[in-house]
Parts: sequence; C-alpha cells; structure tokens
Amino acid sequence: MHEASIAQALIETISAEAKKQKGKPVAAKISCGAFSGVNDEALRFAFEAISEGTVCKNMKLAIEQKPIQARCKKNGHTYVFDLHKPRCPKCRCEDFELLPDEPLLLEEITFEDK
Ligand SMILES: [Zn+2]
Repeated sequence: MHEASIAQALIETISAEAKKQKGKPVAAKISCGAFSGVNDEALRFAFEAISEGTVCKNMKLAIEQKPIQARCKKNGHTYVFDLHKPRCPKCRCEDFELLPDEPLLLEEITFEDK
C-alpha cells in the first residue's frame, strides 16, 4: 500500500527529528503534488495506525495538495495550470508544457511547548 509506506517514512523522519530536538512532535505539515495521487484519508489512517507506540502518536497531519504548474513555451512563464483556462496568463499563449509534479515533502514539524 502506497500510503502506508509514506506514513512509515514520515514517522521515521519525524522521530529522528524529535530525538534531535528532544521534543514531542504534535503536528506536521506535508505537501504533495496534485498528480502524486496521495489520498489524505488513507494517509491519515495509515499514520495513525503505524504511529501507535511511537513518539508520533496523536500527531495532527496537515496535508496540502500543490496545484499543477505549467510553463509557456514561447516566453518561459511559469504559472498555476488551470484546466478551464489552459493558457499563459501573461502572454496569453496556449503553447505550454506541464511541469513535473512536486514530490511529497515534509514542510514543517511543530513541537510541544516546553
Ligand atoms: Zn507566457
């Protein structure tokens, strides 16, 4: 299962960071590209199950889906791709390429106040 391996990796990273900071992690912010197909609910569920008995137990996860980016081939503008208006907002050209999806990223860990 995709989400379970993501949750496992997140917990390992957060646990290592918690050890370094000597703190209890309470929340984490994650972002991922809209194409990566990560299911929020499934990821939360997997995280909850796997974090049982670790320092990550009861952590809150905020998952942000990053919009798809495109670049116009004419002038190299990059912009947020809108399916309904697939053209460059700056030069109005419709010759574009989609940029690669962003990988899953652990953006921020919040630790409990000491
Ligand atoms: Zn353009």
